[in-house]
Amino acid sequence: MKKYRFMLMLLIFTFCLSSQQVMAASAKKNNSVIMLNGQQLKMPGNVQVQNVNNNIMVPIRVIVENLGFDTNWNQKQGKVTVSKADSTVELTIGRKVATVNGADKKLNIAPLIQSNTSLVPLRFISEEMGLTVGWDNKNKIVSLESLPDEPIMENPPVIVTPSKPTDSTNSGEGEFVPGHTNSGEGTPITPTKPINGAAVNSISFYDNRLMVGYEGSTQPNVVKMTNPDRIVMELPNTQFSNSFNGGQSTGDIQVVGNSNITSIHYTMVSQQPPMVRIEMPFGSSAPYSFYAQGSSTSGQFVIDLNGQSLITDGKKIVVIDAGHGGYAPGTTGYSKKKEKEFNLAVALKVGRLLEQESKINIIMTRSDDTAVELTDRGKIANNLNADVFVSIHGNSAGVSTTAHGTESYYYNDRSKAFTELMHRHLLAATGFTDRKVKYKSLQVLRDATMPATLLEIGFLSNPAEESTMLTEDFQQRVAQSIVDGIKEYLGV
Ligand SMILES: [Zn+2]
Repeated sequence: MKKYRFMLMLLIFTFCLSSQQVMAASAKKNNSVIMLNGQQLKMPGNVQVQNVNNNIMVPIRVIVENLGFDTNWNQKQGKVTVSKADSTVELTIGRKVATVNGADKKLNIAPLIQSNTSLVPLRFISEEMGLTVGWDNKNKIVSLESLPDEPIMENPPVIVTPSKPTDSTNSGEGEFVPGHTNSGEGTPITPTKPINGAAVNSISFYDNRLMVGYEGSTQPNVVKMTNPDRIVMELPNTQFSNSFNGGQSTGDIQVVGNSNITSIHYTMVSQQPPMVRIEMPFGSSAPYSFYAQGSSTSGQFVIDLNGQSLITDGKKIVVIDAGHGGYAPGTTGYSKKKEKEFNLAVALKVGRLLEQESKINIIMTRSDDTAVELTDRGKIANNLNADVFVSIHGNSAGVSTTAHGTESYYYNDRSKAFTELMHRHLLAATGFTDRKVKYKSLQVLRDATMPATLLEIGFLSNPAEESTMLTEDFQQRVAQSIVDGIKEYLGV
């Protein structure tokens, strides 16, 4: 059978060598270029390609708009289906197993959501769709080439690992439905076997953030070093997981699309005791922040170059936590709007107000629809040595539409007075029924080592309260009351 053969030069990020000036120049324009049969195609706007553990990850849009495969994205299930002729590939966010024509196949890396964009592994999809994939590291070029008719490579079936929950129709923290539990902040701690040390299972750079995924327990040290200028993260009692980059214990992660940082170096600096070092070039004097996201047994360490500083100059550190996010929508309001959106809208307003305070540093656990995979965000506050922690939520009584009012939670003694003060301000702003300050064992509150409160501003399941809560005026008033409470408590 005659089959035409063509060479695609797709996703040409830059033709030049990694000269910083040229990189910077090309980064100012859209540095992602697609060549199709020698013709340059336009990439979808704002598309960023990233390299996670040396896997090229592309937004689903690239698959849809540039590769021409049929693509179906089921946001609720976090599932993308790619098909062409007789091949169908199904991938799920967070899941390292794909389904190819009905059979399970293991992935090097799970599709992931970052900054509200779903990223999928380009090589896997392309190969399953009958293309060969080449990677020119020097010039950062991915080349895709169609194959003549060939038998499809056999891969042994693999055991399916359980995926993370991708949906939750209730908020966990404020429900009072008897016997009801779910995956929100209210979930009791699952006893886990303590892991001695930690293993790094991913390194990536995206949206000006270095992210190091880990399992186990370790306390990294992050320092700025000179000659050459760089940021160094050392993880004591840590090694690389077996699945990391094919078992390599030293190497570089190529960074795509950043004019200042072209690669991240990783190495085991010591085997006994094990120690991992990750180095990122950083010549700027701009502030950066370091924080952890996750639970006591897994998560990611983040070095964020987006301008937040840990150097506080005696300033108070306030952590504002917009509840839920990404694949975890929280509760669903009467109008079917998601709680995570309400929480974020209020949190961002609080953030903007606090940014104007000269004696306060504000850190947000999320400032967009990022999927913070694990619920105990208190750890971020702990790593920052924050002064107070405020988690913002909307309440739900499930199908009941009558429950209403404002309530605030604390977990321990050090948080009680803070919560009472915050509740007083909040209640005056909402004008809702006073459901009082309550003790509740919520993970997000248990984890925080500073005064911490969780505010249930009102009931999204109540149509009247929800319509009020979704107005800008109300949210601004509530945000101001949260800021007033924080300032009063901190005495600034
Ligand atoms: Zn919630």
